[in-house]
Amino acid sequence: MSIEYDGRTGKPIYIDEREFKVRYRSSLGFLEEYFRGLEEGRILAVRCMDCGARYYPPRSFCIECGSRNIRFYQLSDVGKLVTYTEINVKPQTHSDYTDYIVGVVEVDGVKLVGHVNAKFEDLKPDIDVSISVDRRDGDTYYRIIFKPLERD
Ligand SMILES: [Zn+2]
Repeated sequence: MSIEYDGRTGKPIYIDEREFKVRYRSSLGFLEEYFRGLEEGRILAVRCMDCGARYYPPRSFCIECGSRNIRFYQLSDVGKLVTYTEINVKPQTHSDYTDYIVGVVEVDGVKLVGHVNAKFEDLKPDIDVSISVDRRDGDTYYRIIFKPLERD
């Protein structure tokens, strides 16, 4: 605890700095099937059964036609790398990661964002990548992982 002075008003302010852990509890509802898929290593997107629009992340209604006639479908485990970048300045949640590559992959009519497991210099747009889901040790959230496919 310390007493400091507000830079704008000059009035004394009390500073108490401490770390705290937040546990989010969210109702899954419509997304239960999506999260069950992730637990099994499958990534699901949704398709509007009325106009054919596809969405990832899944949404419960179609923003193209307003329909709620939405169905999940499983994405292929191979997609095409659209773009990528190396992250050197990390958000706090990833501060203990070494520098990493994030990419956008197009698959079955939708685009995914995920980690790219590769050397930056080995990547180029339009290469085929495998798509998988994992959880880093100690993390409670899933990551989508892309890996360049071996070429002949
Ligand atoms: Zn629609």
